Amino acid sequence: MNHSSAEPAYGGRLVLVVEDEPTIAEAIAARLRAEGFRTATAADGPSAVDQARVSKPDLIVLDVMLPGYDGLEVCRRVQAERPVPVLMVTARGAETDMLVGLGVGADDYLTKPFSMRELIARVHALMRRVDRITAAARQSSGTASDGMLRLRCRGDSEGPIEGPPKVLEIDRSERRVRVDGSEVHLTPTEFDLLVCLARKPRTVLTREQLLAEVWDWVDASGTRTVDSHVKAVRRKIGANWIRTVHGVGYALEAPA
Ligand code: CA
Repeated sequence: MNHSSAEPAYGGRLVLVVEDEPTIAEAIAARLRAEGFRTATAADGPSAVDQARVSKPDLIVLDVMLPGYDGLEVCRRVQAERPVPVLMVTARGAETDMLVGLGVGADDYLTKPFSMRELIARVHALMRRVDRITAAARQSSGTASDGMLRLRCRGDSEGPIEGPPKVLEIDRSERRVRVDGSEVHLTPTEFDLLVCLARKPRTVLTREQLLAEVWDWVDASGTRTVDSHVKAVRRKIGANWIRTVHGVGYALEAPA
């Protein structure tokens, strides 16, 4: 086992590699093992979902084009059972654009062809983020109500949730979100994005800032990932909470 990398070791963490091309799957798995990860593989949609259920991976590297059903469906089914970070691998830029547009909810996207170095860097960045979330949750548990953020907003009729006024509650210690008292289920990344915006209401954060804070990833090519997640969060909590500042970034609307 080779631990020559300067990145932290993640011995024992399990990465599920979902890829129908055996040589690519094995190359990715071998490189991950060299970095100290354990690996499991699946070559089609249904077995990926089964494997995720049985082995409970810490992260999934997920190819989009798969036999059975595709990576989008795998992502949906797996996340519905147990939240897990997903690095989605797409065939080309146009496909990534389509997925980002759909707001699929993968935590990050990687376009083929990619270097192993790039893949490993993304996996490490996602793992660091998961560790930070776990540490933050551990720290804030037991500190009662100080993990709670509450925001009020005048509703608008464009969002899926109607009838002003609305109250947005973000419980950081329990990682739960409620809109007008009803719980909304966000993925871990969507939750982190919302908290990042909510910590500075009415302050415009650039995509690059959000990428650095939420994804721990500084690379302008990742800004589409931010757009995708903003879209997904809006769909879940109502469109009026997050304002787009064109050419700059996003801001959470604060109480008037
Ligand atoms: Ca494929």
